[in-house]
Amino acid sequence: MKYVRFEKNNQTFFGLLEGEQISQLKGDFLKDQAKPTGDTFSLSEVKLLPPVEPGQIIAIGLNYALHAEESGKPIPEEPMMFMVSPTAVVGDGEAISLPNLDNRIDYEAELAVVIGKQAKDVKKENALDYVFGYTTCNDVSDRNLQKKDGQFTRAKSYATFKPLGPVIETSLNPNKLEIKLTVNGEIKQHSNTDDLIHDVETVIEKVTEVMTLNPGDIIITGTPSGVGPLKPGDQVELEVEGIGILRNSVVDGTQISADQATNANLKA
Ligand code: MG
Repeated sequence: MKYVRFEKNNQTFFGLLEGEQISQLKGDFLKDQAKPTGDTFSLSEVKLLPPVEPGQIIAIGLNYALHAEESGKPIPEEPMMFMVSPTAVVGDGEAISLPNLDNRIDYEAELAVVIGKQAKDVKKENALDYVFGYTTCNDVSDRNLQKKDGQFTRAKSYATFKPLGPVIETSLNPNKLEIKLTVNGEIKQHSNTDDLIHDVETVIEKVTEVMTLNPGDIIITGTPSGVGPLKPGDQVELEVEGIGILRNSVVDGTQISADQATNANLKA
């Protein structure tokens, strides 16, 4: 099942996507046994929103061997976890706004796990029982700030730095999914989640040893090798098998603030 959030006439709705058609649901699919209202929309007549508004975003670093190697870092023995701000999330079709053109700001294709029920001290054997579904996240990262700060919060939390979507797919094996990212049609990252050093179940076990996860929280599971910089004008497409394609353009954020941003999503 492919769940979506969407906007129509300045209102937010929840829905189920089948082909090009959305069946509207009565409530938030994460909270309610959301039943169809009977209303349907075609995908082209609505604006898709991020499929979830996460309370927490837990990120896993260096979780693909070749990416650890390209970063010049040893493979972590345990999932290396950090947190980024949920206010960085934007949806499919929205712009990634670069706040500083002198810094190197990279794309990072990732599988995102959406938590479905409260989880603490979960064992990996039943970790997937706590998952609602899966989406994709581009973990956009300012490498200069990452290096300067020695940690990730500032480098990865700017507004628009966490494109998420386009849908949450509930029926997937998360550990065997092709993952691909293109910039302007050119393949930059291409891997499979079967290359994850710490699989989704292990990551959930390790994260919930430490903290409680709530419905709607997401874990972004790390990026494969091939990361590289973005520049204004780029078109980024992130595809995870079974989920779909998350499309975002890249804009000059310094210019946008100078122009007093007309796009409401960039003002937020
Ligand atoms: Mg990452």
